[in-house]
Amino acid sequence: MKKYKIALVGNPNSGKTTLFNLLTGSRQHVGNWAGVTVEKKEGFFEYKGIQFEVIDLPGIYGLSANTIEEKIARDYIIEEKPDLIINIVDGTTLERSLYLTSQLIDSHSRMILAINMLDEVVDKGIKIDIKKLQNLLKFPVIPIVAKKEKGIKELLDILLNSLDQRHEDRIHINYGEDIENAISEIECKLNCYPELTGEYFARWIAIELLSESDIKNILEKSKEYCEIIEEVNKHSKALKDIYKEELKEVFNDMRLGFINGLVKECVTIETKFSRIDITDFIDRIVLNKYLSFPIFGIILWLTFQITFDVGGILSNFIENLVGQLSNFIVAIMPDSMLKDLIVDGIIGGVGGVIVFLPQIMLLFLVIAFLEDSGYMARIAFIMDKFMHFLGLHGKSFISMFMGIGCNVPGIMAARVLESEDDRKITALINPFVSCSARLPIYILLCGMFFPKNGGTIIFLIYLTGIFVSIITAKILKTFFFKKESLPFVMELPPYRFPTLKSIAIHMWERASQFLKKMGGVILIGSIIIWALGYFPLSSHKERDKTAQLENSYIGKLGKMSEPIFKPLGFNWKETVALITGIVGKEVVVSTLSVLYNAKDDSEDLKLKMQSDGVDKETALSFMIFVLLYVPCIATIAAILRETNSVKWTLFSLFYGIFVAYIFAFLFKHLASLVGKFI
Ligand code: GDP
Ligand code: MG
Repeated sequence: MKKYKIALVGNPNSGKTTLFNLLTGSRQHVGNWAGVTVEKKEGFFEYKGIQFEVIDLPGIYGLSANTIEEKIARDYIIEEKPDLIINIVDGTTLERSLYLTSQLIDSHSRMILAINMLDEVVDKGIKIDIKKLQNLLKFPVIPIVAKKEKGIKELLDILLNSLDQRHEDRIHINYGEDIENAISEIECKLNCYPELTGEYFARWIAIELLSESDIKNILEKSKEYCEIIEEVNKHSKALKDIYKEELKEVFNDMRLGFINGLVKECVTIETKFSRIDITDFIDRIVLNKYLSFPIFGIILWLTFQITFDVGGILSNFIENLVGQLSNFIVAIMPDSMLKDLIVDGIIGGVGGVIVFLPQIMLLFLVIAFLEDSGYMARIAFIMDKFMHFLGLHGKSFISMFMGIGCNVPGIMAARVLESEDDRKITALINPFVSCSARLPIYILLCGMFFPKNGGTIIFLIYLTGIFVSIITAKILKTFFFKKESLPFVMELPPYRFPTLKSIAIHMWERASQFLKKMGGVILIGSIIIWALGYFPLSSHKERDKTAQLENSYIGKLGKMSEPIFKPLGFNWKETVALITGIVGKEVVVSTLSVLYNAKDDSEDLKLKMQSDGVDKETALSFMIFVLLYVPCIATIAAILRETNSVKWTLFSLFYGIFVAYIFAFLFKHLASLVGKFI
């Protein structure tokens, strides 16, 4: 008959021996571990006809093999592979005790968390929400009072139940994008040699290798050792560059963040406790019931303030440069088709977008700062309640927030969500969050048509986007993804002042995507648009530029689709800009500049647009349409990748156009109504 092996793991004085004695009664054997004088207790018991062998491991605070006790405990778990671990913790020092738990989670052991000393917990006015804890940890949690034999029967029943449970839905601690990427690449390498990792969990070995624990011993004998260590060293060097400290410490911080989040969700302490560290102190303010939203609001407002005001100054500078370059070429080159291509097509198109580079870089800078400092995680925490109302999780909000920078990383950020449905919904609503590529359009049009209250209008547009994404989430959740979403722990890592380097790296990663887009899609898009507007050449020598455009290929295309957009007030030029904007929303601005044949300053474009019948209401409805209609190609590709469904990707496209049309129509007519009364 099979005898199950159970190990008791916990901090010193958590009550392991008390529980051990309770379980085994007199059937025990005390000895020493081979070679060292650390007490080794083994015992046996039977429950409901099942035989158990139980071992009382030495008390430890972690699994890093720093001390002989830790090494014994870890080797036991590695070598003996107990069927189940009972992790016993002192409920009065839950936060400290859970550190060991977090390492056990990484080791992927099957376990039960027994929270001991519940009598003292109650006395001290600590409230632990056991059910929530269990939901978040995804393994059984059971309160006991070992000294008074309370909860032992329940513990044994759960023990029996857990023995044959499958491993599937295991909890992972999320170590942040950079580290997670490194982990999965090492994991991938390890998985090439299944005989190497044996029955160990590849993710755990990857984590241990990165944090330089002496797990290397397990692998050392193998011939693939060098190859794997090389891979590990490559990643750890890159990560050290970002974090500027030992990876061990970084893992440590992340684990503490996990525990911090877990405890903040599940434990309330009625009596005040005195020990306050900085993170705790900041969290008390930042996560305070009344202050959290105002603080978040101010930070959001500051984000846009920095982006627009500081960015605007730098932007003017670049605008001047582009203008000078254009004038320079006009002066030195003889009239030719090539000259038209360079001045109107390339400089007009790419230059029209590149002037917004400072704003976009600054926005990414702020996002990188919020992420690296630890505040982004708090945003998820603050928004959690609200997101639950939508049937989503606080972390979905991070994805939305990142979408302000660019929808592609925003959609990718949905990966941190554990439920597939949540990931899909989060990815599908992201395009409605206005990305930085749409910003130039607002800045341009607001500058022209709403010079006095442009900021407010832009704010309103962003709100509309968020409103639509919320409504969409609610619709999707109510009608298509009905499954209740699973709760999970939100890591609240300690605050840190981000290193310049890590901010620079993160900002650059995103900005370089933008630049690549400039050099690639936007350049090609601009040239194509220019060519479609340039050909066929009219026969007259004295060409009227506007007439020429109207008869060009693009003019015909625009004219053909113009009737569809008539109710929204767009003429054929705006229509064309919308079509080309699918390449990338930045292209909308370049298309308008090329089609209106505007000089490099926006005043000229404004006059030309106005003389073409574009008024305030049309500008507004145009911006709303741009906000909501089909996302750019890169975003469509990201949605396809993340939802892994053609059906949902198509849904996203058609739904977007539908919503855009309705909202643009509403805004135009409401705006003119409002205009009449004011
Ligand atoms: P170990 O170091 O993990 O083996 O812990 P022990 O089993 O030796 O227990 C440490 C101390 O905690 C002992 O004095 C126990 O009597 C006490 N203890 C164990 N369980 C409980 C409990 O449920 N409540 C209280 N108040 N004390 C307990
Ligand atoms: Mg003991």
